Amino acid sequence: MEIMGIRISTVVTDNVALRCDDCLEIIYGTPWRVNILDTVAAETPVSWAGRPVLNPGPFQFHGDPAHVRSWMRRRGWLFCRRGEVREIMRPIPIPGDEFRWGLCDGLHRDDHEFVQA
Ligand SMILES: [Zn+2]
Ligand SMILES: [Zn+2]
Repeated sequence: MEIMGIRISTVVTDNVALRCDDCLEIIYGTPWRVNILDTVAAETPVSWAGRPVLNPGPFQFHGDPAHVRSWMRRRGWLFCRRGEVREIMRPIPIPGDEFRWGLCDGLHRDDHEFVQA
């Protein structure tokens, strides 16, 4: 639109404040979006009944992996230190006394090494 010869660009998406899924503060600029891949590709046929269903996202964060990891930690998810925080993370079921999820970028070929996120 144009007012008295001055061009005003109206960007609709800027009117909605995005908030970081970790610290809940407003994100200025481009958010870091993280998607959790579907678990369909699980190697072993397991019953998922009674297990928490993963929300695939996308989740939005400040552009700092620390926010993504702190968010994972709060959910009790582990992080594979062979990979990095990326826009697409694969959920890996970790069997044990207490069932947990680990997130990995899935780009390495050796074994996962899950640590506290
Ligand atoms: Zn944040
Ligand atoms: Zn891994």
